[in-house]
Amino acid sequence: MRVIRDKAALHKQLAEWRHARERVAIVPTMGNLHAGHLSLVRLAQQNAERVVVTLFVNPTQFGDGEDFETYPRSLKRDTRSLEEAHADVLFIPEIDTIYPFGIENATRVSVPGLTEDFCGACRPGHFDGVTSVVMRLFSIVQPEVAVFGQKDYQQQLIIRRMVEDLSLPLKIVIAPTIREADGLAMSSRNSYLSDEERQIAPILYQVLREVAEKLQTGERNYNRLEDRATQSLAKSGFRPEYFAVRQALDLKEPDLDCSAFVVLAAVRLGKARLIDNIVLGAN
Ligand code: AMP
Repeated sequence: MRVIRDKAALHKQLAEWRHARERVAIVPTMGNLHAGHLSLVRLAQQNAERVVVTLFVNPTQFGDGEDFETYPRSLKRDTRSLEEAHADVLFIPEIDTIYPFGIENATRVSVPGLTEDFCGACRPGHFDGVTSVVMRLFSIVQPEVAVFGQKDYQQQLIIRRMVEDLSLPLKIVIAPTIREADGLAMSSRNSYLSDEERQIAPILYQVLREVAEKLQTGERNYNRLEDRATQSLAKSGFRPEYFAVRQALDLKEPDLDCSAFVVLAAVRLGKARLIDNIVLGAN
């Protein structure tokens, strides 16, 4: 695996692959990699001959007072994991490579509608930061394939919408959520949890599953499901930000004959903010 920091070197490598008619898949990450990220790399390998993993902690998707400065960084370990996973390139751009005219002057990409609720409401500006940086990474790498995790459900919907809306010539592949043995979705931010909080954290997935099971057995009082789940999370020690039963397709409120749901939640637990979701009925 090559570790590349500058755009010219990356473009030279990409040109060689294109010449050999090899397809390129991109896996955008912010590092501190875990088994979830590595599953994305494997999926990328199944969809393209070459895999570029990008590692960039993007300042524009963090709000004021969020954890940009303290976001866990573990470059050595990440490099080793990606080497073992046989990624072809680890691209670690400097901030000037991504934002050559500076952040203030940077062109922005914003997807209205889908970004307004849920994580968009709790973290104003977050998704504009995400779409803007993902668009930049797509422009630099020009991949045929891009892999994202279902764990960030709203994010992947927004990115898929952006790709479709802007007719970007690439295929988006979504990877299932990888979990710890007790059900907690893996996340770079789980390291913020104290030992005691780590014991509580898997309850989030348990509550999501309970609601998913009720939907599966025909319960259609969505508000009651949401309210009870929110109360139960609060009782367990979380500070819920949202808990919602929505249409998987577009996050709109489901009507009574909806058949493809996503149950999605965000909670705070100590210093950590955890998000998770379950999709049911969607293909
Ligand atoms: P991040 O480094 O947190 O920005 O995540 C990079 C990519 O990994 C995103 O597409 C995430 O959705 C995905 N991802 C994060 N956690 C998981 C997980 N537990 N399982 C699968 N994919 C994940």
